[in-house]
Amino acid sequence: MSKKEHANIGTRSVWSGEKEYLVHGATQVPVVHSVSFGYDDIDEWYEVAVGNKQGHIYGRNTNPTVQAFEDKVKDLEGAIAATSFSTGMAAISNALSTILVPGDRIVSIKDTYGGTNKIFSEFLPKLNIDVALCETGNHEEIEEEVKKGCKILYIETPTNPTVKITDIKRMVKVAKNNRALIYVDNTFATPILQNPLELGADLVIHSATKFLGGHADALGGVVCSNDKELVEKIYHYREINGASLDPMAAYLLLRGMKTLHLRIKQQCVNALTIARYLQDHDKIEDVFYPGLETHTNHHIAKDQMKDFGGMLSFALKGGLQSVREFLPKLKYANKAANLGAVETTVGPARTTSHVENTPEERATLGIPEGLVRYSAGIENVEDLLEDLEQALSYITHTD
Ligand SMILES: *Cc1c(COP(=O)(O)O)cnc(C)c1O
Repeated sequence: MSKKEHANIGTRSVWSGEKEYLVHGATQVPVVHSVSFGYDDIDEWYEVAVGNKQGHIYGRNTNPTVQAFEDKVKDLEGAIAATSFSTGMAAISNALSTILVPGDRIVSIKDTYGGTNKIFSEFLPKLNIDVALCETGNHEEIEEEVKKGCKILYIETPTNPTVKITDIKRMVKVAKNNRALIYVDNTFATPILQNPLELGADLVIHSATKFLGGHADALGGVVCSNDKELVEKIYHYREINGASLDPMAAYLLLRGMKTLHLRIKQQCVNALTIARYLQDHDKIEDVFYPGLETHTNHHIAKDQMKDFGGMLSFALKGGLQSVREFLPKLKYANKAANLGAVETTVGPARTTSHVENTPEERATLGIPEGLVRYSAGIENVEDLLEDLEQALSYITHTD
């Protein structure tokens, strides 16, 4: 076997980013619940405060537990720098607000996460920032819009909830050629399955609340990049605006990440098995999963992802009424506005990812009212299939 510089990603999920934060011989990173960090030596204090010396000053800026979490994500994404936030939305809005000024232009896709879509449709226009939202998966349209000039090209792939795929390498190319930054929301794929920085992206964003944490018990967000200056700018914006990650949440996310590679492996198997099963079911109108050969951009997903992820969605025949009949009957699924957890989690798009949108907006976004988002957990897939079968049998009308 050849000697490699880095261990494999499963080993790194367990070990990376922790060692330098251990104290008293403990094998686990401590949760440092301290708002401030004290210094008797005012010269040392000054050196830390101005960033000439490693250390911590005040919890809104940095904290050791939070830094351990950032270090682990940084390592898994193969990045040079990372900074964290109280939530995924805080990561997204801080990363945008740091860079954009009135008069700027941003290009993105219609199918971003509902909250992100609200930033684009409601908040940025108020600041006189022009937003062009393209048809997701229409690469030509995105290229045309970027060529007109923009500061940031913002993509998310796979998307929430219809798991559409955008070609990252192709988008990197058009962004670079037009001197735009390219941001990629990598929440659905996780660093286990997709590394946008390797493909040339400038910034990777995660809602750590989802797969990274994986246990639906902590909110958090993180951005990472190979451009240290960019991350420092975003960090500076965040330290002043105050959307800092809490140390307890950082600890929970850090612990969750140790099993990330195992969870993702099982979730990919479960999602593909379920997608195949639903594809042939007579109560199902449509199934969306990048791992299906019938998926529009299956070949792109195959090229840029190591596997197809734990997220799928499907439209029930009979629309919303069928969702009402089917959803409560599922035994092994939380009906909740979350995803990426060890438990299977389901919800209609109209109450989860796109609750902020009107029915008309959802229709424009191509989200049927009968759409169910399914985040496959790590359960035994046989049980999930049986559960789906019995729950689907409660659907009375399929027209
Ligand atoms: C959930 C989610 C977000 C927002 O993250 P929060 O932690 O809920 O703020 C952003 N992007 C995607 C793809 C998400 O699924």
